[in-house]
Amino acid sequence: MPELKVNLLEKEYHCLICQQLMQPTTEIVPCFYCGKREKADYVCPNGHYICEECRLATPDEIVRKTCEASVEVDPLRIAFKILSHPAIPMHSPVHHYLVACTLLAALRNATKFKAERVTFDDALRRGKRIPYGSCGSLGVCGAAVGVGIAVSIFTRATTMSDKERSLAMQAVVEALKNIAEIGGPRCCKASTFTAIITGAKFFKNLETSIQIPEKPQFCSFMSVNEDCLKERCPYFR
Ligand SMILES: [Zn+2]
Ligand SMILES: [Zn+2]
Repeated sequence: MPELKVNLLEKEYHCLICQQLMQPTTEIVPCFYCGKREKADYVCPNGHYICEECRLATPDEIVRKTCEASVEVDPLRIAFKILSHPAIPMHSPVHHYLVACTLLAALRNATKFKAERVTFDDALRRGKRIPYGSCGSLGVCGAAVGVGIAVSIFTRATTMSDKERSLAMQAVVEALKNIAEIGGPRCCKASTFTAIITGAKFFKNLETSIQIPEKPQFCSFMSVNEDCLKERCPYFR
Protein backbone atom coordinates (compact mmCIF):
# COMPACT_ATOMS: atom_id res chain seq x y z
CA MET A 1 0.00 0.00 0.00
CA PRO A 2 1.51 3.37 -0.99
CA GLU A 3 2.40 5.70 1.85
CA LEU A 4 -0.11 8.48 2.23
CA LYS A 5 1.68 11.81 2.08
CA VAL A 6 -0.23 14.86 3.18
CA ASN A 7 1.31 18.19 2.45
CA LEU A 8 0.11 20.33 5.30
CA LEU A 9 0.70 23.86 4.11
CA GLU A 10 1.26 26.36 6.87
CA LYS A 11 -1.71 28.68 7.03
CA GLU A 12 -1.04 32.39 6.77
CA TYR A 13 -3.13 34.99 8.56
CA HIS A 14 -2.88 38.72 8.25
CA CYS A 15 -3.62 41.17 11.04
CA LEU A 16 -7.08 42.74 10.62
CA ILE A 17 -5.76 46.00 12.04
CA CYS A 18 -2.38 46.58 10.38
CA GLN A 19 -2.34 43.80 7.71
CA GLN A 20 1.06 42.46 8.87
CA LEU A 21 1.63 38.71 8.74
CA MET A 22 0.54 37.13 12.04
CA GLN A 23 3.15 35.09 13.92
CA PRO A 24 2.44 31.90 15.94
CA THR A 25 2.56 32.42 19.72
CA THR A 26 1.71 30.70 23.01
CA GLU A 27 1.62 33.95 25.01
CA ILE A 28 -1.31 35.35 26.98
CA VAL A 29 -2.15 38.67 25.36
CA PRO A 30 -4.92 41.31 25.67
CA CYS A 31 -7.57 41.73 22.99
CA PHE A 32 -7.04 45.00 21.08
CA TYR A 33 -10.73 45.93 21.47
CA CYS A 34 -12.21 44.45 24.67
CA GLY A 35 -8.96 44.04 26.64
CA LYS A 36 -9.75 40.41 27.57
CA ARG A 37 -6.49 38.53 28.24
CA GLU A 38 -6.25 35.01 26.86
CA LYS A 39 -3.86 32.55 25.31
CA ALA A 40 -3.40 33.43 21.66
CA ASP A 41 -2.40 31.20 18.75
CA TYR A 42 -1.28 34.11 16.59
CA VAL A 43 -0.24 37.69 17.28
CA CYS A 44 0.96 40.34 14.82
CA PRO A 45 4.46 41.92 14.99
CA ASN A 46 2.80 45.13 16.28
CA GLY A 47 1.26 43.21 19.18
CA HIS A 48 -2.31 43.19 17.84
CA TYR A 49 -4.53 40.35 18.95
CA ILE A 50 -8.31 40.17 18.55
CA CYS A 51 -10.34 37.67 20.58
CA GLU A 52 -12.86 35.54 18.72
CA GLU A 53 -15.85 37.43 20.13
CA CYS A 54 -14.45 40.73 18.89
CA ARG A 55 -13.47 39.27 15.52
CA LEU A 56 -17.12 38.30 14.97
CA ALA A 57 -18.62 41.35 16.70
CA THR A 58 -21.30 43.53 15.13
CA PRO A 59 -20.65 47.31 14.88
CA ASP A 60 -22.82 47.91 18.00
CA GLU A 61 -20.88 45.35 20.01
CA ILE A 62 -17.46 46.60 18.94
CA VAL A 63 -18.38 50.21 19.81
CA ARG A 64 -19.69 49.20 23.25
CA LYS A 65 -16.95 46.69 24.11
CA THR A 66 -14.13 49.05 23.08
CA CYS A 67 -15.62 51.97 25.00
CA GLU A 68 -16.26 49.84 28.09
CA ALA A 69 -12.64 48.59 28.13
CA SER A 70 -10.82 51.78 27.14
CA VAL A 71 -8.67 53.74 29.59
CA GLU A 72 -7.95 56.53 27.05
CA VAL A 73 -8.75 60.17 27.85
CA ASP A 74 -8.54 61.18 24.16
CA PRO A 75 -11.88 60.29 22.51
CA LEU A 76 -10.47 60.36 18.98
CA ARG A 77 -7.93 57.67 19.86
CA ILE A 78 -10.81 55.47 21.03
CA ALA A 79 -12.67 56.25 17.80
CA PHE A 80 -9.68 55.31 15.60
CA LYS A 81 -9.46 51.98 17.39
CA ILE A 82 -13.13 51.25 16.64
CA LEU A 83 -12.90 52.51 13.06
CA SER A 84 -10.06 50.05 12.39
CA HIS A 85 -12.49 47.12 12.88
CA PRO A 86 -13.60 45.54 9.57
CA ALA A 87 -17.27 45.53 10.70
CA ILE A 88 -17.42 49.34 10.57
CA PRO A 89 -18.45 50.50 7.08
CA MET A 90 -16.98 53.59 5.39
CA HIS A 91 -20.29 55.46 5.67
CA SER A 92 -23.05 54.36 8.02
CA PRO A 93 -25.23 55.45 10.96
CA VAL A 94 -22.77 53.62 13.28
CA HIS A 95 -20.80 56.89 13.32
CA HIS A 96 -23.71 58.68 15.03
CA TYR A 97 -23.51 56.66 18.25
CA LEU A 98 -19.77 56.07 17.93
CA VAL A 99 -19.26 59.83 18.53
CA ALA A 100 -21.47 59.76 21.66
CA CYS A 101 -19.90 56.59 23.10
CA THR A 102 -16.25 57.62 22.55
CA LEU A 103 -16.86 61.01 24.19
CA LEU A 104 -18.58 59.34 27.17
CA ALA A 105 -15.77 56.77 27.50
CA ALA A 106 -13.08 59.49 27.48
CA LEU A 107 -15.09 61.48 30.05
CA ARG A 108 -15.37 58.45 32.33
CA ASN A 109 -11.59 57.92 32.05
CA ALA A 110 -10.77 61.59 32.67
CA THR A 111 -13.35 62.49 35.33
CA LYS A 112 -15.49 60.96 38.08
CA PHE A 113 -18.31 60.44 35.59
CA LYS A 114 -19.56 56.84 35.69
CA ALA A 115 -20.17 55.25 32.30
CA GLU A 116 -21.14 51.60 32.43
CA ARG A 117 -22.60 49.17 29.96
CA VAL A 118 -26.09 50.68 30.45
CA THR A 119 -24.70 54.14 29.70
CA PHE A 120 -23.28 53.02 26.35
CA ASP A 121 -26.46 51.05 25.58
CA ASP A 122 -28.44 54.23 26.23
CA ALA A 123 -26.17 56.24 23.88
CA LEU A 124 -26.49 53.50 21.24
CA ARG A 125 -30.28 53.51 21.50
CA ARG A 126 -30.50 57.27 21.22
CA GLY A 127 -28.02 57.34 18.30
CA LYS A 128 -29.98 54.73 16.37
CA ARG A 129 -32.98 57.07 16.21
CA ILE A 130 -31.08 59.25 13.72
CA PRO A 131 -31.58 57.88 10.20
CA TYR A 132 -28.80 57.37 7.67
CA GLY A 133 -28.43 60.39 5.42
CA SER A 134 -30.00 62.79 7.94
CA CYS A 135 -27.37 65.38 6.93
CA GLY A 136 -28.87 65.74 3.46
CA SER A 137 -32.51 64.95 4.24
CA LEU A 138 -33.01 66.62 7.64
CA GLY A 139 -30.19 69.14 7.73
CA VAL A 140 -28.65 67.54 10.82
CA CYS A 141 -25.56 65.33 10.63
CA GLY A 142 -25.91 62.36 12.99
CA ALA A 143 -22.30 62.77 14.17
CA ALA A 144 -23.21 66.26 15.46
CA VAL A 145 -26.26 64.80 17.22
CA GLY A 146 -23.85 62.26 18.75
CA VAL A 147 -22.17 65.17 20.57
CA GLY A 148 -25.60 66.31 21.81
CA ILE A 149 -26.34 62.77 23.06
CA ALA A 150 -23.06 62.74 25.01
CA VAL A 151 -23.78 66.14 26.60
CA SER A 152 -27.37 65.12 27.39
CA ILE A 153 -26.28 61.89 29.11
CA PHE A 154 -23.37 63.59 30.91
CA THR A 155 -25.55 66.42 32.28
CA ARG A 156 -28.70 64.24 32.61
CA ALA A 157 -30.63 66.67 30.47
CA THR A 158 -34.32 66.17 29.78
CA THR A 159 -36.97 68.18 27.98
CA MET A 160 -37.73 69.82 31.34
CA SER A 161 -34.13 70.84 32.14
CA ASP A 162 -32.92 74.43 32.02
CA LYS A 163 -29.14 74.80 31.44
CA GLU A 164 -28.53 71.13 30.62
CA ARG A 165 -31.02 71.17 27.73
CA SER A 166 -29.47 74.36 26.36
CA LEU A 167 -25.96 72.91 26.64
CA ALA A 168 -26.91 69.78 24.68
CA MET A 169 -28.38 71.89 21.89
CA GLN A 170 -25.43 74.33 21.88
CA ALA A 171 -23.02 71.39 21.52
CA VAL A 172 -24.92 70.15 18.46
CA VAL A 173 -24.94 73.66 16.95
CA GLU A 174 -21.15 73.95 17.29
CA ALA A 175 -20.45 70.49 15.88
CA LEU A 176 -22.96 70.96 13.08
CA LYS A 177 -21.47 74.31 12.07
CA ASN A 178 -17.96 72.81 11.86
CA ILE A 179 -19.19 69.80 9.88
CA ALA A 180 -21.23 71.98 7.48
CA GLU A 181 -18.13 74.06 6.74
CA ILE A 182 -16.35 71.00 5.31
CA GLY A 183 -18.83 70.73 2.41
CA GLY A 184 -19.93 67.59 0.56
CA PRO A 185 -20.43 64.90 -0.59
CA ARG A 186 -20.75 63.54 2.92
CA CYS A 187 -17.87 61.75 4.58
CA CYS A 188 -18.81 59.96 7.80
CA LYS A 189 -15.12 59.86 8.82
CA ALA A 190 -14.50 63.62 8.40
CA SER A 191 -17.79 64.34 10.22
CA THR A 192 -16.82 61.94 13.03
CA PHE A 193 -13.36 63.49 13.51
CA THR A 194 -14.85 67.00 13.50
CA ALA A 195 -17.71 66.09 15.86
CA ILE A 196 -15.36 64.42 18.37
CA ILE A 197 -12.84 67.29 18.36
CA THR A 198 -15.67 69.84 18.75
CA GLY A 199 -17.29 67.73 21.48
CA ALA A 200 -14.01 67.39 23.42
CA LYS A 201 -13.50 71.18 23.30
CA PHE A 202 -17.08 71.64 24.51
CA PHE A 203 -16.54 69.30 27.46
CA LYS A 204 -13.21 70.97 28.25
CA ASN A 205 -15.14 74.25 28.55
CA LEU A 206 -17.43 72.48 31.04
CA GLU A 207 -14.28 72.16 33.16
CA THR A 208 -13.72 68.46 32.66
CA SER A 209 -10.22 67.05 32.17
CA ILE A 210 -11.04 65.30 28.88
CA GLN A 211 -8.16 65.48 26.41
CA ILE A 212 -8.72 67.60 23.30
CA PRO A 213 -7.57 65.43 20.38
CA GLU A 214 -5.01 66.68 17.93
CA LYS A 215 -6.25 67.09 14.39
CA PRO A 216 -5.46 63.84 12.51
CA GLN A 217 -2.43 64.37 10.27
CA PHE A 218 -3.38 61.58 7.91
CA CYS A 219 -6.68 59.96 6.98
CA SER A 220 -6.27 56.25 6.30
CA PHE A 221 -9.75 56.08 4.79
CA MET A 222 -9.12 58.30 1.75
CA SER A 223 -8.23 55.29 -0.41
CA VAL A 224 -11.49 53.48 0.38
CA ASN A 225 -13.80 56.49 0.10
CA GLU A 226 -14.95 56.83 -3.52
CA ASP A 227 -16.39 60.25 -2.70
CA CYS A 228 -13.30 61.58 -0.85
CA LEU A 229 -13.21 65.39 -0.91
CA LYS A 230 -9.42 65.20 -1.27
CA GLU A 231 -7.86 68.71 -1.10
CA ARG A 232 -11.16 70.15 0.17
CA CYS A 233 -11.07 67.90 3.28
CA PRO A 234 -9.26 69.24 6.37
CA TYR A 235 -7.88 65.74 7.07
CA PHE A 236 -6.55 65.00 3.57
CA ARG A 237 -2.75 64.69 3.23
ZN1 LIG B 1 -1.37 44.29 13.60
ZN1 LIG C 1 -12.07 41.10 22.44
